[in-house]
Amino acid sequence: MANSDGALWEIGKIAEDGKPYVDLDKGTYLIGLIGLNEAVQYISGDQLHESEKAYKLGLKIVSFMSLKCEEYSERFDLKLSLEESPAESAAGRLAKIDLQEFPDSKKVIKGNLERDESYYTNSIHFAASAPLDLITRIVKQSKFHPLIKSGAMIHAFVGENRPSPESIYNLIKKVWENTQCSQLTISPEFTICNLCNKVSRGLKENCNNCGSKDVYGITRIVGYYSKITNWNKNKIGELKDRHSGNYKVRSQV
Ligand SMILES: [Zn+2]
Repeated sequence: MANSDGALWEIGKIAEDGKPYVDLDKGTYLIGLIGLNEAVQYISGDQLHESEKAYKLGLKIVSFMSLKCEEYSERFDLKLSLEESPAESAAGRLAKIDLQEFPDSKKVIKGNLERDESYYTNSIHFAASAPLDLITRIVKQSKFHPLIKSGAMIHAFVGENRPSPESIYNLIKKVWENTQCSQLTISPEFTICNLCNKVSRGLKENCNNCGSKDVYGITRIVGYYSKITNWNKNKIGELKDRHSGNYKVRSQV
């Protein structure tokens, strides 16, 4: 605390109200998960969505981690909890390091490895390209949510589809009534034209309105939307895999 040039110097400083800016004793310490799908695949040979055995192993691993959080919270008098961290960079960085250090990991790491688009599937999510219908994805992933206290979220990457308000209503109602899903997002993709500023659905090479090629795409990188041109390569790899997944919101669910 003596060195004002040091990192996080102000964190424990007393603010004008007499309390520290951040009270470390009252803070919650988050433990993020990345690549449950690949861990399970490496151990059992199947991805989370490919067999009941793999899925149950996933639940067992996360339950164990959740219990450890409780045990350590008590032992060290700290609030620890599991989080679905956004991990935009870590999901790619850890995959890259593992490919160097543990070449065997290429059996399970996702994305196009030749193009440096390798990644671990974020958190407890099922593979982005898993050929599951959306309801099954939500029902199965939401079983993990009571174990993850922070930021648990299921994404419906609907691409250029425009589900009707009724089908979205039916989906949300069903999820609310039948699952323990903490958060569900319905995430379309958009193309924005630099020339005429028109926004159109889906990721396109040309503007729907004026035909210009001077366009950019936006979609959800993790919890928030951003320009795809700013994404790192591993997220581009995941985006391609999302496009082969099945996230269709059906009118009758
Ligand atoms: Zn245009």
